Amino acid sequence: MEIQPPELSVVIPVYNEEENIPILVRELEEALNPLGKEYEIIMVDDGSRDRSLERIREAGRKNPRVRAISFEANAGQTAAMDAGFRSARGDVIVTLDADLQNSPRDIPLLLEKIPEYDIVCGWRAERNDPWIRRISSRIANSVRNALSHEEIKDIACSLKAYKRECFQKVKLYNGMHRFLPTLFKMEGFRAVEVRVGHFPRRHGTAKYNIRNRVFRSFVDLLAVRWMKKRQLNYRVREDLSDKGE
Ligand code: UDP
Ligand code: MG
Repeated sequence: MEIQPPELSVVIPVYNEEENIPILVRELEEALNPLGKEYEIIMVDDGSRDRSLERIREAGRKNPRVRAISFEANAGQTAAMDAGFRSARGDVIVTLDADLQNSPRDIPLLLEKIPEYDIVCGWRAERNDPWIRRISSRIANSVRNALSHEEIKDIACSLKAYKRECFQKVKLYNGMHRFLPTLFKMEGFRAVEVRVGHFPRRHGTAKYNIRNRVFRSFVDLLAVRWMKKRQLNYRVREDLSDKGE
């Protein structure tokens, strides 16, 4: 089978998700095959210590649209996503987590909005997380939006779609995967939200907890707030610099 260049790239960061990989790939195929678009699934193994990479390679042998990138050691979710974005060839890039808390069935809903918008954010209207996570996420969203003057309700939802142009101007730093729509909107791109499902984690463990998330993402938030405040904003009235012979 000859594979055409993909129109759509799905980028998935993977850290110790061995049981989820085969189910995720099957659900992605079921959701994407009927669209009639060429696609690629880029799974970035972020230094997993289980058999995630083997599972990704097995999936790639069965379906050459599944591509593996693997890191030497764990470098964090933003790094894994960055490697995927750089390798993605599609005009549209979709992101989701590997743990099936997001459903590939929602991807077509996001794609419907893409011609009109540059960024489509999933909004998990009904969260399926332990209550402590639901409450801390609600507080995090409101603090984040107040401090970064953002109105996206659920910016931390991983399920999103972007036009590839979004990635051209922005350099990512560790932790910034949570703020991509804010960073892209600063460059003039337009975002919309779409309600998506959210499901409990069935296999593997959550990689973040209150301790390792709250403080780090608060510091990241201050960085984003600073960047927004200090964004250069000028219009040139006249430019005589290259005419002075
Ligand atoms: N992940 C990663 N590197 C890390 C931590 C997480 O690639 O250092 C991946 C993980 O495998 C999952 C996604 O990032 O696909 C989000 O992680 P998780 O589901 O644990 O986050 P939570 O649901 O707790 O926000
Ligand atoms: Mg998760």
